[in-house]
Amino acid sequence: MNNPTFTTIGVERLRMNSDGKGITTLVAGYGCPLRCQWCLNPQCFKESTKTETFTVEQLIEKVSIDHLYFLATEGGITFGGGEPLLYADFIHSFRQKCPEEWKINLETSLNIESECLLKVLEDIDCFIVDIKDMNPDIYQRYTGKNNDLVVKNLSLLPKEKTIVRIPHIPDYNNDSDIQESLDQIRQIGFEQTNVFPYDKNRSLRKQK
Ligand code: SF4
Repeated sequence: MNNPTFTTIGVERLRMNSDGKGITTLVAGYGCPLRCQWCLNPQCFKESTKTETFTVEQLIEKVSIDHLYFLATEGGITFGGGEPLLYADFIHSFRQKCPEEWKINLETSLNIESECLLKVLEDIDCFIVDIKDMNPDIYQRYTGKNNDLVVKNLSLLPKEKTIVRIPHIPDYNNDSDIQESLDQIRQIGFEQTNVFPYDKNRSLRKQK
């Protein structure tokens, strides 16, 4: 694609240690293939959401305000969402054109065609993957989709650059399900894992 664009629901500056090293700017993409029951960002797929669309040059100009912070802290840009891999061409082009010192992080659910992931595989410094739960039944009930692509895409990721996040999902998984997911993730070869609780009260409403 010659001139890819990125449609965002928001750009959040000066984040510390929440999504990658150093100071980061989160660029949250509009659109998500999943419909998680306790989604914290339903605005990423609602038609009524106010969005903004950037070319690569426009986004670089906007986020460059924090260039010195990125350099000083080895921080950079985190593409999140929604599902940022819907914008794989854009992210690839952004990496080519932005200052090479900037780190590029990606927060993804990985439930996307592998060709999107392969486009950015060399561009990303840190993949932060929320796998929900490795149990296909729990995953399907919670997200409304199967996790075949997640499992396939996990095998493609560089293990040393990836943090796998496994949430406690109220009403959907328990400690033994989480242990089972952890065991599977470690068997695939991932060492950096992060089990964390979902606070369903932070969800704006249960998605239907
Ligand atoms: S992956 Fe789930 S929680 Fe994240 S934005 Fe999509 S629907 Fe919401």
